[in-house]
Amino acid sequence: MQHLHDSQTLEFTTTVTGVTDGRFVELAETYFYPVGGGQPHDEGVIRRGNDEFHVTFVKKVAGTVSHEVDRAGLAVGDTVHCSIQAARRRKLMRSHTAAHIVSALMIKKTGAKITGNQLSTEKVRIDYNTEHYDVDLLRSLIEEANTVIARKLPVTTRIVPRAEAERMPGVAQLAKGLPPGVEDIRLVVIEGFDTQACGGTHVANTGEIGTLSFLKAENKGKMNRRVYFTVND
Ligand SMILES: [Zn+2]
Repeated sequence: MQHLHDSQTLEFTTTVTGVTDGRFVELAETYFYPVGGGQPHDEGVIRRGNDEFHVTFVKKVAGTVSHEVDRAGLAVGDTVHCSIQAARRRKLMRSHTAAHIVSALMIKKTGAKITGNQLSTEKVRIDYNTEHYDVDLLRSLIEEANTVIARKLPVTTRIVPRAEAERMPGVAQLAKGLPPGVEDIRLVVIEGFDTQACGGTHVANTGEIGTLSFLKAENKGKMNRRVYFTVND
């Protein structure tokens, strides 16, 4: 799962190490992102010579990554060249870092508790809990996120032992909630602004995100709120 260390590599050569039911392929190494943490899976192509196999779904299965392809034909031992669909992945990377910025501002400015998020290539949804429902405040948060983005802050990742993550403000709550057996925590750091535990793919600098636009907000009951925004092309 090389994407944890490297969100930039979108082309690589590797070997097929497993094939299940003809269309579920394991690779010796992979940069394809498996669906998870609110971020959709990568798409792309696995090539063996002139033979193309389109990757339609990617998920984690028992500690490895399973790549679902559109047809059977790949075999264990094949040398393959893999291309991750770049436009889709880059949009999701920009969206994911943007979601961290908006979430951090939301926590800072409203004390809301973030309960989930869902990225797509069209929009980003953030779920949060708060008693207040203030659409003007949400609009202003998205505008403030644009000023953070414009500061061109470096974004880095590092892996820390769980015990260390459990002592870090802002990360501790999530780290303590992870299942037993998870010993290493991956942190995504927006320099001088925010640190979150996260397994997703991110831009290297907030300047790559561009600009965000507020889309809509939803009031889903006593405490549950949702805000939607877009990452402009
Ligand atoms: Zn994340």
